[in-house]
Amino acid sequence: MSIEVRHLHKRFGATVVCDDLNLDIPSGELVALLGPSGSGKTTLLRIIAGLEQPDSGAVLFHGEEATHTSVRERNVGFVFQHYALFNHMTIFENVAFGLRVRPRATRPSEREIRAKVSELLRLVQLDWIADRYPHQLSGGQRQRIALARALAVEPRVLLLDEPFGALDAKVRKDLRRWLRRLHDEMHVTTVFVTHDQEEAMEVADRIVLMNHGRIEQVGAPDEVYDHPATPFVLQFLGDVN
Ligand code: ADP
Repeated sequence: MSIEVRHLHKRFGATVVCDDLNLDIPSGELVALLGPSGSGKTTLLRIIAGLEQPDSGAVLFHGEEATHTSVRERNVGFVFQHYALFNHMTIFENVAFGLRVRPRATRPSEREIRAKVSELLRLVQLDWIADRYPHQLSGGQRQRIALARALAVEPRVLLLDEPFGALDAKVRKDLRRWLRRLHDEMHVTTVFVTHDQEEAMEVADRIVLMNHGRIEQVGAPDEVYDHPATPFVLQFLGDVN
């Protein structure tokens, strides 16, 4: 599912958060929105999700106007930094949840649900903890389950907002590899918000560098790194190195 963002404007009070944003994300791509805190990454992600309405401009899914459609109609999967799993449900039931709450007409059978959840748990290599509860898992394992849960409903688009932000450096590194692997298996169009340039460089097909509600540069990691298009990009990438 391709995503297009056209002349997107959004302000909160006097603060301009999206300042004429334009972006094309081809189907199956993993894009990182990278930039300092407050640059508008989360707001852009929320507008793509349908959780926030822009003041003007458009969001297109697969070439079709989606700006005023609901979150459900867009069929997006989310993982947030503190994406709480349901503590009273087993891991299996957590992953199955999105399938069980579907309207009866499109709800899979129990056998299909079991097959789907087992497949996803194998994919994140956590099938051996299907019967455990979230509090028995490490933070990294929980985020792998959160990814499996988001993918269970076969979303057209996967949206991740600093999904590994609360975890320590070693676990973050592992999870980057997980995300990349899952992406290579499932090919779901993915938008990934991070302020961590190393994370963006390692995981993304392309990086969108944001600053003060504007897009400064869009390019493959090497391209952005070797040929920063603006003084901001040069400084932002330079700061952390
Ligand atoms: P980032 O994800 O890059 O940190 P955000 O999109 O979260 O940036 O925020 C961009 C700016 O918009 C910040 O100045 C933030 O304080 C402001 N902002 C975000 N959401 C709201 C809101 N619901 N109400 C008022 N201001 C907001």
